[in-house]
Amino acid sequence: MKIAVFSTKKYDTLYLQPALEANGHQVHFLQTRLDDETLALADGYTAICIFVNDSLTARGIEYLSKKGLKYVLLRCAGFNNVDLDAAEKFGVKVARVPAYSPYAVAEFAIGLMLMLNRNLHKAYNRVRAGNFSLEGLTGFDMRDRRIGIIGTGKIGLLTGKICRGFGSEVVCYDPYPNSEGAKEYGMNYVDLDSLIATCDIISLHCPLLPSTHHMINSETLSKMKDGVMLINTSRGGLIDTVALIKALKSGKVGQVGMDVYENEDNMYFEDSSDSIMLDDVFSRLLTFHNVCITGHQAFLTREALENIAEETASNLEAFING
Ligand code: NAD
Repeated sequence: MKIAVFSTKKYDTLYLQPALEANGHQVHFLQTRLDDETLALADGYTAICIFVNDSLTARGIEYLSKKGLKYVLLRCAGFNNVDLDAAEKFGVKVARVPAYSPYAVAEFAIGLMLMLNRNLHKAYNRVRAGNFSLEGLTGFDMRDRRIGIIGTGKIGLLTGKICRGFGSEVVCYDPYPNSEGAKEYGMNYVDLDSLIATCDIISLHCPLLPSTHHMINSETLSKMKDGVMLINTSRGGLIDTVALIKALKSGKVGQVGMDVYENEDNMYFEDSSDSIMLDDVFSRLLTFHNVCITGHQAFLTREALENIAEETASNLEAFING
């Protein structure tokens, strides 16, 4: 089978390519992201393999299904970038990799919390500039904090579990509670309003859905504790970025750690600085020294890449074998 992989990443050629080729498929790397402009590159391929920054619209699915597309292999957990209704309508099967490494993302969320709390990002730059001043670097003991986890799926539960290891109090919210899991890790469910109003750190671990779009907005931000720390490793659209910027300016929000951001699909973060395009809102976010932003790398561990490659290859075989 001919498979088109939309990727510019070297690590995909290291992990994904051998996994797909091991089953005898012809794998072609298309060195760009998929969107309505680049659709035609996938003409004639039976399967395409895409990631979070690709976009497969209803128009794209209709077009590619007429050119022979049967399978869409998402090599990520999220699926908000594919029009699933259109896929069903045009008989295109879509698979994702729901749990390649929840540890990778949970550990990353904790990394952002610790970095912001202990001001490591500021200390790193200072010391490199020969400045060993400790002014403004005071953090807090994690054990004294109340941490709120929104979304207690695989990643949210693990994040809470690690926070419990610090001795922090962990409360959580999920419309579909996992009472057993939360109990095992020593976390208590509360309603969303109470979580938002009482936590020192709030970490988002729910999917981007119409119902969760901008769940963190000017109203929810206004109810948070002064100086709250927000962590988002889930999806950028969960937070209204303009409202967040206002809350950062007023000091309502103390610190923000983000691995994902709104309009991520339209921004390129490639290895060369030439290809970086930032929108105005994102550029404004970067001016705050209490905001740490990474380029959607929370998943990026060797173990996760191995799991992604193996799962993606086995999803394709499962489709082929009916
Ligand atoms: P999961 O499906 O295991 O868990 C998601 C949880 O969110 C579920 O328990 C669900 O009930 C809950 N949820 C749904 N609606 C909610 C709402 N309105 N409020 C609160 N909770 C709600 O997913 P997961 O594997 O734990 O992934 C969580 C998020 O992390 C996803 O958005 C995923 O896309 C993202 N993710 C990011 C990266 C990265 O590299 N940054 C990597 C993997 C996953």
